[in-house]
Amino acid sequence: MEPFRKLAIVGLGLIGSSIAHAARRGKLASEVVGFDASADVRQRAAKIGFCDRIADDIAAAVQGADLVILSTPVGAYKSVGEAIAPHLTPGAIVSDVGSVKGAVIRDIGPSMPPGVHFIPAHPIAGTEFSGPEAGFATLFDGRWAILTPLAGADAVAVARLRAFWEELGSQVDEMDASHHDLVLAITSHLPHLIAYNIVGTAHDLEAVTEGEVIKYSASGFRDFTRIAASDPTMWRDIFLNNREAVLDVLGRFNEDLNQLQRAVREGNGDLLFDTFTRTRAIRKAIIEMGQESAAPNFGRDQKKP
Ligand code: NAP
Repeated sequence: MEPFRKLAIVGLGLIGSSIAHAARRGKLASEVVGFDASADVRQRAAKIGFCDRIADDIAAAVQGADLVILSTPVGAYKSVGEAIAPHLTPGAIVSDVGSVKGAVIRDIGPSMPPGVHFIPAHPIAGTEFSGPEAGFATLFDGRWAILTPLAGADAVAVARLRAFWEELGSQVDEMDASHHDLVLAITSHLPHLIAYNIVGTAHDLEAVTEGEVIKYSASGFRDFTRIAASDPTMWRDIFLNNREAVLDVLGRFNEDLNQLQRAVREGNGDLLFDTFTRTRAIRKAIIEMGQESAAPNFGRDQKKP
């Protein structure tokens, strides 16, 4: 891939800093410039040194950039889009990493000037940690990245962004934004909502069980606490911006849960056994695809499935 001249990353938390690390690893841009609204984050990012330069204002960060990636929480995208618009270079690609896509297109699309290629994206990679210290170069290795280009998007620009994500270590898929939002509602957003809820409920119960919820957490609860430790700002913004799809899958989930509740009450072992057998097979398929852990079992230099 022909390297970009200047990669500008706005928002230097887990995802932004990981993109910087991975872009420098792959020499994907001659210069990587970072910006974050928080002076404290800018200072910490400069100290870690994953960018060639940290800009003190957003205009200086994006001026002259041929690739701009927004990696702030989704709720900030509208104001960030408006702030960068007057300073973008014609022909530049503007992309993002937001976990929802319909709302991001709604919020950023209108402010993008003609001649700038706005191509939304979402890496399906992450951890429960946030901030500039949380980033690392291998975060995207062996993971999926989804591009949701708008109708009529420039094919050359889309191919260039696709190549960029492949060089970051990912496999790339393209789909419609509304399909993305539905898929992610069931695979990511609902599991987080359930985790936040079960950990909250267990915490309320803790008073009753006098600490036993924590003491015996290895029995299943611990896995939920990892997910429920995810960044509150980011997840608040996701639920506020993918409301319809989340409510849709939540309705389905509640119906299925009611069915299981009934099976437990009526002692319907067959239904319980069949359900658990089906879900075990799903887990097996995920392991076979190398997507079972925070560190996938194949790297960028290994064969991808
Ligand atoms: P993060 O670690 O909290 O980083 C976000 C950074 O953006 C913070 O440093 C934040 O500063 C900064 N910021 C907030 N508003 C800003 C603004 N207006 N201008 C510039 N910087 C601003 O979050 P993250 O996990 O990297 O997530 C970033 C994006 O990636 C989100 O859109 C999320 O949906 C998406 N994403 C996350 C994951 C994941 O697993 N974490 C996976 C895929 C995609 P302050 O902390 O001072 O507010």
